[in-house]
Amino acid sequence: MRTSVIKGLIRVWRNKSRFCLILVLALCLIFPQQMTGAAFSGKESKVKMEDVFKFRTDLIKEALLKAGFTSHYLKKNETLYRLSQKYYVSVAALKRVNQIANPHLIPVGEKLYIPPVEYQAGRLKRYQVKPGDSLKGLLSSYSLELWQFKRINPDPTKHSLKKGTLLYLPKKEINRSPRSTLSINLVRPVGGRITSRFGRRWGRMHYGIDLAASLGTPIRAAASGKVAFTGWNGGYGWFIKLDHGTYKTNYGHLSKIVVANGSYVQQGDLIGLVGATGRAYGSHLHFELEISGNKVDPLLFI
Ligand SMILES: [Zn+2]
Repeated sequence: MRTSVIKGLIRVWRNKSRFCLILVLALCLIFPQQMTGAAFSGKESKVKMEDVFKFRTDLIKEALLKAGFTSHYLKKNETLYRLSQKYYVSVAALKRVNQIANPHLIPVGEKLYIPPVEYQAGRLKRYQVKPGDSLKGLLSSYSLELWQFKRINPDPTKHSLKKGTLLYLPKKEINRSPRSTLSINLVRPVGGRITSRFGRRWGRMHYGIDLAASLGTPIRAAASGKVAFTGWNGGYGWFIKLDHGTYKTNYGHLSKIVVANGSYVQQGDLIGLVGATGRAYGSHLHFELEISGNKVDPLLFI
C-alpha cells in the first residue's frame, strides 16, 4: 500500500520533471539568447537540445518546429555539407540532431530536422540597413533566396528594411556593392517628380521608378550605349532598352520612340517622348536599371 503510493508519487514527479525539462528546453529553443544567457552557457544548451530530441515524441517535434527547427526531406545527391551551407547550420549539428552516425548512409527521402541558424558559426555578419537598400538588392548581392533571408532574420519587423535596422547577412557578398565595382553614373531621363519608387507597392514589386511628366516630354538616355530593343512590350507599352555594357536601362509607357534599334546614343540624347501606353495610370516614365539581369534601384546611381 505504502510503496504503491510512493511509486505513484515518483511517477508523478518523474512526469512533472520531464514536462518541466521539456518546457525549459523548448523555451531555450524559442528564446535562445535570453534563455541561454540566463540558464546555460552556449555550449551546454546544445547538449540539452540533443537530450530533448531523444524523447522524439510528437509533442517535442511540434515544439521543435515552433522553435525554429525545419524539416527537410533529403534529395538525391544532397549531402549534409550542402544542407549546412543552405540552412546556415553546422554539419555537426545536423548529425547530432538527427542522430546520424554515418552521413553517407542516409537514404534519399529521409526526413531530417534542421536546427535554427547558428549565428556564431562565422558565416553571418551583422549588417545595418543603409538608405537605398532594397530587399531584392540585398538578396541578389548576397545570393540569398527569400526563405533563407527570412530564416536568418526571423523577426518580420526586419523585412521592411528601414534605414538603420540591424540584419544578419552572409559574410560572403557575391556581387560586391554595384556602386563600388561598376562605374554607373546616370542622368535623370526626365526632370519630373518621382511618383513611385523602387520596391514593394500594392503587394508586388515595382522594379523601377516612375517619373511623372506631361505627355510628350522628351526622354533622355540616362547613359551612353547601344539601343538594344525598341517596340511594344506588354504592360510597359512602347518601350526602349539601352545596353551600356555592364548594365542596361529600360524606359516604359512611351508615346513615341525616336531612336532605331541597334543605333548608339550618348548620355542625354533624346530617345523618345513620355506617354501612358501599356499598363500606366496617367502619363509618366517608368525607368529601370538592370545589372546582370537583376533590377536595381536606379536612384542609387543618379
Ligand atoms: Zn512604374
